[in-house]
Amino acid sequence: MPSDLPDRIARVRARIDDAATAAGRRPDDVRLMLATKTQDAGTVLAAVHAAADLAAARGDDRPVLVGENRVQELVAKAPDLADLVAAGRLEVHMIGTLQRNKINQMLPTVTGLAAVDRLSLAEAVARRCVRDGRTLDVMVQVNVSGEESKSGVAPTEAVELATGVAALEGLHLTGFLTIGANTPDEDEVRAGFARLRAVRDEVVAGGTPGTEDARELSMGMSTDLELAVAEGATIVRVGTAVFGARPPA
Ligand SMILES: *Cc1c(COP(=O)(O)O)cnc(C)c1O
Repeated sequence: MPSDLPDRIARVRARIDDAATAAGRRPDDVRLMLATKTQDAGTVLAAVHAAADLAAARGDDRPVLVGENRVQELVAKAPDLADLVAAGRLEVHMIGTLQRNKINQMLPTVTGLAAVDRLSLAEAVARRCVRDGRTLDVMVQVNVSGEESKSGVAPTEAVELATGVAALEGLHLTGFLTIGANTPDEDEVRAGFARLRAVRDEVVAGGTPGTEDARELSMGMSTDLELAVAEGATIVRVGTAVFGARPPA
């Protein structure tokens, strides 16, 4: 675990604040999500506490956000995070591609699912949420770059998927997630983020019941968070800049 986690988180937070200010936005309108894949539970906890301390010093009492990519890791770390989640001080979101046969394992470990890329998956999750008497926050994942390696619905189909998800009992649509284009061309990366914002704006303006809270734009990571904030990101998901380089997958 990097011993300088508080410093690293403060530096990322300063990057977010600077980007927001440069874009004429309020820094607090952009939240930091810790992207914790491959980090052990102790490291995640240390980062959560550091992030909470930093937020408290800014007068921000919203829960800390953690994003995990794999159900196996969610399950492994859940016992260490459960108290903070129960106390309302931590939200844990699934941000990776979800296999249908992992839904039951995932549900008790998360407060949100930010990677809905098809209606059949949303329906399956919704059925289980209704059965469990709970409502799960979800985001629709959109593939704004068209890169084949990336999951997510195509931008042209995103509005239809979002309105379909919004209609499902057991789910609460809170917004949209994307992973930026993997290119050094900043204009192209920005254009992708702008595409996600356009999808969000169209869905919210459409006024379909269940879409009124679908305002979050989860976009931007360690290398492109400034571009995402400039295009309206409300959540940036940061791993490497906080935890250091991950071992190759
Ligand atoms: C790993 C990951 C991140 C964080 O990426 P970094 O480049 O390490 O900041 C964000 N979002 C998703 C979906 C990820 O898988």
